[in-house]
Amino acid sequence: MKRICVYCGSKSGNRPEYLKAAEELGKTLALNGLGLVYGGGNSGMMGKLSSTVMANGGEVIGVIPRALHEREISGPELSEIHVVGNIHERKAWMMELADGFIAMPGGLGTFEEFFEVLNWSKLRLHDKPYGLLDSCHYFSKLMELLDHIEHEGFLSPNHTATIHIDETPHELVQKITKHPTWK
Ligand code: AMP
Repeated sequence: MKRICVYCGSKSGNRPEYLKAAEELGKTLALNGLGLVYGGGNSGMMGKLSSTVMANGGEVIGVIPRALHEREISGPELSEIHVVGNIHERKAWMMELADGFIAMPGGLGTFEEFFEVLNWSKLRLHDKPYGLLDSCHYFSKLMELLDHIEHEGFLSPNHTATIHIDETPHELVQKITKHPTWK
């Protein structure tokens, strides 16, 4: 089974559209037969996304560091949960298990994870496709920042163009699964 790793908030954000987008992405993954790899938590966007995939008969693999696992209140059963030693192992596992990556609205953890995917692609350590689910234009300032970084000469021209971006889960998943390196 092909899998997409989704990075998203452990909080829900201030707009109902964010949780709605997590729900829509969850349905899109399950209905397209794509497994979900995610951080294994059950709060906020992560909880809504994973429970929606499970409720729609999809596959969910959670990868969570031991310390966080002990703190989480148990949520709906997942297909698999990998408890790992630390956050570095978790990011490596999530990248390994997935065939592509999506970041949704989230906080520092989400940005850390997405930047690692982006930077490792720049370093040619992986060639898997990735994209941003741009609910309520959440990522427009990030795209501006990346353009600024390119413009100022700290990032090769056109690297930002490798990021798929769409407001609609269905369209974004289509873009990722049609990417030339989606195997
Ligand atoms: P944040 O965007 O700061 O809320 O962090 C969310 C991202 O970091 C997710 O994609 C997870 O992989 C990871 N993460 C942060 N907090 C948790 C948590 N309480 N449980 C599981 N994963 C978490």
